Amino acid sequence: MIFDLHFSPTLLAMIGLLFGAIIGSFLNVVIYRVPRILLAEWTHEAKQFLDIVSDDKPSLSLSTPRSQCPDCGTQLKAIHNIPILSYCFLRGRCSNCNSLISVQYPIIELLTAFLTAYILVAHGLSEKALFSLIFTYSLIALAFIDIHEQILPDQITLPLVWLGLIASLFGHWTNPTSAIIGASLGYLLLWSVMHLFKWITGKEGMGYGDFKLNAAIGAWLGWHMVPTVILVSSFLGAIIGLCAIIFLGHDRRSPFAFGPYLCLAGWLAIEWGDQLNYLFSYLSL
Ligand SMILES: [Zn+2]
Repeated sequence: MIFDLHFSPTLLAMIGLLFGAIIGSFLNVVIYRVPRILLAEWTHEAKQFLDIVSDDKPSLSLSTPRSQCPDCGTQLKAIHNIPILSYCFLRGRCSNCNSLISVQYPIIELLTAFLTAYILVAHGLSEKALFSLIFTYSLIALAFIDIHEQILPDQITLPLVWLGLIASLFGHWTNPTSAIIGASLGYLLLWSVMHLFKWITGKEGMGYGDFKLNAAIGAWLGWHMVPTVILVSSFLGAIIGLCAIIFLGHDRRSPFAFGPYLCLAGWLAIEWGDQLNYLFSYLSL
């Protein structure tokens, strides 16, 4: 344990809410911009490969240009970047063109704030909390990028695999041997399910991003949590997918992202993994 500081739960919750809201605001930028940065890079590379002369170098990054309204392009003032509050002040509309601002922005800020507060109260200002926060923030970004774009970028999933292996050295959730087996098993299990599904139905049910995300979850939690995470995510996916078809009229043939369910199951497993395994062993008796 490198550090482990003790403060009152109320103070930790307040620090968590404040810090989490700021990180949530940054995650909004990541969720919106990473797919666009990747698309610009891929287009640029494709043009170079095909020898198409073009001087449109990708200019978008996580820090530049400053955040702007997607409708009228007006750059946001500093005061409009205050998490949650600015959305309330503006009543969910752009101050210039009055167009609606997606409610997803304050939702992600609130979600990140509450999860940060929960983790700090549960683990204190500790090394375990730091690792848990990194894992949580990565899963939030991945889940929402997958919901919108149906991709899980390598730029987030692969570092998450390496970080999980490093985290295993500290032994909070698992040991390095179990983490290495977990990463391999996580990837292989979903890879096998996808190929079996493809062999039976002729369709591709999952993408390689899902395998890499599951490998990352295996690296963080160890091999013994991999089957639990797959079971929980499949269960959640089936229930929520069915509700979306029945109540929201979603087309059952339209593709749906599996990543968000893996993220949700991975998060539940990092915080309540033992309880989940206990529940499964109880149900199987
Ligand atoms: Zn506007």
